[in-house]
Order: sequence, then C-alpha cells, then structure tokens
Amino acid sequence: MLAFEDLGIRFGGNQAVQGVTGRIEPGVITAIIGPNGAGKSTFFNLLSGFYKPTSGRIRFGEQDITGWPTHRVVAQGVARTFQTTTIYKELSVLENALLGHRVRTRAGLWDALLGSGRERRESRASLEAAHAALARVGLEGQAHLPAGSLTQEAQKRVSIALALATGPKVLLLDEPAAGINPEETVNLTRTIRELAASGLTVVLIEHKMSMVMTLADHIMVLHHGQKIAEGSPAEVSRDPAVIEAYLGG
Ligand code: ADP
Ligand code: MG
Repeated sequence: MLAFEDLGIRFGGNQAVQGVTGRIEPGVITAIIGPNGAGKSTFFNLLSGFYKPTSGRIRFGEQDITGWPTHRVVAQGVARTFQTTTIYKELSVLENALLGHRVRTRAGLWDALLGSGRERRESRASLEAAHAALARVGLEGQAHLPAGSLTQEAQKRVSIALALATGPKVLLLDEPAAGINPEETVNLTRTIRELAASGLTVVLIEHKMSMVMTLADHIMVLHHGQKIAEGSPAEVSRDPAVIEAYLGG
C-alpha cells in the first residue's frame, strides 16, 4: 500500500532518517518502535508530506508521492495524528472533525478556518462525515462540547477523529497512548483495533509496549534513523540488535 525506498532526510549535519526501505501492507497493523530520537516522528513527517525527503522515494499504491505537499497526500488517503495532540481546543468536538473533513476537500487548514460565510455553512455531506468520524472513536455524545474541556484521552480521540474525517485508507498514529493512564490505554487500544477491523490500515508509533504487543501484526524498529529490524512481535522482541538498541542507546 505504502512503499518507501532508501528514504532519508538530513537536517544540517544530522541525518535524522537514513536509507529506510520497506512497505506498509494493507490491512495490517504496523508498529514503529525505537528509542527516543530514533527518527520515528520524522519518518511519519516524510510519509505524510510534512517534510520532503533528501533521498529516496515514497509510493502509495501505483502513485509516486515523493515530495508531494501534505494536502495532496491526505487527498490520496494518508492521514496522521501528531505526537503532541493538535486539536482546536476552543472549537467544539464536531467542529474539529469538520475541519478534518475540509482539509481533504480544500488546500489547507487556513482555508477551512478563514472561509467565507457561505463556505462556513457546512454541507450535509461534511456533517455526515464528521459525525461518522466521531462515532468511530466513541465521541458522538460529546460532539457539542469544547474540545479543550475533554479528558486527555478524549482529546486524543478528537485528534484521531480529525484524521478519520479526511477519509483515509492509511492512518498514522504518533504515540496515541502518551500521557494517558493504563485503563484509558486499554480503551484506546480497543478503539484502534476496531478501526483496523473496519478496513483501515493502521501504522502506530508507540512507546507503551503493552499497546504495541496487543495491536501490532508487524513491527519495524528504528535506531539512529535506520531500520535495524522488522518482523512479528515475537521475532523483534528476541532480536539482539533491538535489545542492544534499547539497552545500549
Ligand atoms: P523520535 O520520534 O523517534 O523520538 P524524531 O523523529 O522526533 O525522533 O527525531 C529524530 C531526529 O531528527 C532528532 O535528532 C531530531 O532532533 C531531528 N529532527 C526532527 N525534526 C527536525 C527538524 N525540523 N529540524 C532539525 N532536526 C530535526
Ligand atoms: Mg517522536
């Protein structure tokens, strides 16, 4: 579904991601793990068009999407959440999801936020898409609350709904369980599993191994910007290079 070859990006003298080759298989939950600073978020920024690679290619299906701007990548069907929850706290939960829908149909967030009065009146289709996205993350009941008034975990769900409202085929989640408690982590794990079961291809960066081991069909390990291992959870967890990366830094 998503394939990358020799993917890399350099910031000045810092090669944050280097020579990463692989693919994200449709219908599979892939986890990306690795120590802090390994290049995981940067890898997502490359896949989602936030950063342009300094080497390598990215393909989505038959399309070469290397260097495409984010809104075109989103329109192809790749959506992502951010490590730091980025939602519009003063807007309602529903308005957040509506913004997600508009990112797909327009050039960007600013257009959505600054649209004219006529454009601001949401079409029925947009509302339906936004409500459907909220239902998928269990937030129908909170649609009209200010997003900032929700719990940390529910705000994570808002950010996932925002991504879902773009109608993705692939959903990239950057540390969805960061900053939430164990019980909330179990609930969020269940929601992510349901999203995958509904046909969405999920790629997950996560530090919480309970979540990784429960969800992942396939794990890719990054260390110092390079892919050092990949395989099933069982294979990866007994890989000497992986153990060394986590212990030795
Ligand atoms: P991880 O998500 O695995 O913890 P990151 O992808 O956030 O790691 O960071 C990997 C490396 O890339 C770090 O050394 C970080 O400083 C660097 N990096 C990421 N984005 C930028 C940027 N915009 N400018 C400079 N360096 C960056
Ligand atoms: Mg990160």
